[in-house]
Amino acid sequence: MKLRKPDSKGNIIVGTTGILILMLLLMCIFVLSSINYIQNQNIESQANDNFKYIIDDYSTNLEVLGRESIAEATEKVYNGLPVHDSEGQIKKNLDKHLNMKNDEFEDKYDVDLSSEVLSVEASDSPWKVLFRVKLNGEKDDERFSQIIERNATIEGLRDPLPIAKLTIVSGVMAYDDKIHYKTALSAYMLLHDLDSPESYIEATAPMTIKKCPYDPYVHHGDPGVLDDCLDTGYFHESADGSCYLCRLEGKGKCPHYGMEVFIQTHTPLGNESLSCSDHVVFADHYNGEKIDPNDWDSLILDSSHRKKYGLSDYGNATD
Ligand SMILES: [Zn+2]
Ligand SMILES: [Zn+2]
Repeated sequence: MKLRKPDSKGNIIVGTTGILILMLLLMCIFVLSSINYIQNQNIESQANDNFKYIIDDYSTNLEVLGRESIAEATEKVYNGLPVHDSEGQIKKNLDKHLNMKNDEFEDKYDVDLSSEVLSVEASDSPWKVLFRVKLNGEKDDERFSQIIERNATIEGLRDPLPIAKLTIVSGVMAYDDKIHYKTALSAYMLLHDLDSPESYIEATAPMTIKKCPYDPYVHHGDPGVLDDCLDTGYFHESADGSCYLCRLEGKGKCPHYGMEVFIQTHTPLGNESLSCSDHVVFADHYNGEKIDPNDWDSLILDSSHRKKYGLSDYGNATD
């Protein structure tokens, strides 16, 4: 009994001291690793500052090469080959371009570079595709690593959707900066049991993507605007239309914010048929009517598209 008391006291003291030492150790480790982390951060940002001119030059190149990589995927579609995974295809194209660029930069700046394309995705704007690339570099024992984000515009590229969707064997053709559907769309409509496929024989649509400047779009009801929009062949923003990356895969509809274009019919027929916005023709499949029954080249539109473009009273003014 006499011996146990000092024993348990001793145990308590030893135990408490042990815990205190352990806590002290943990605190030291924490403080040391924090200091180390902050130092590393400083070294990294310092290094990135030193390499800023290289990174800036590389970013500018990324914008150009990103766009070229998209254009190559479009070219593949126009050559009659399917693109099942546009992001993967463009990544592959871009990796090839960047590897060449890395070699070029090694000669130009005497720096070792390696890059990895992290992602190719739809941005908040239907006119731009977002690229994310990780760039690692080393020069004279100094290293940097940076993720570069850059948008590439798709304006000026060809619209891949009609060819990707209908395939080249359908007879759809592209010349004079226009898509000429010939009988391809009517055959497609016949296959899907849609109304008045004959209305879409010889229909045409713009080929090169140009952003419509008549924004807000209700101005299309103003004198001369619709004529100019159709003559130039403008594309329009649309939550229902598909984005460029999904167009490459032949999708008329997608979850991203996209675009739409009018498929213009040239027919004396006045039958009710598909509304001519391309996401309706290729995916949504609902009907509309000619906005001007007396015009062979009139657009066929449903009421919500008439409202969007300010064309609800179009053709009635002269009645
Ligand atoms: Zn327009
Ligand atoms: Zn999409």
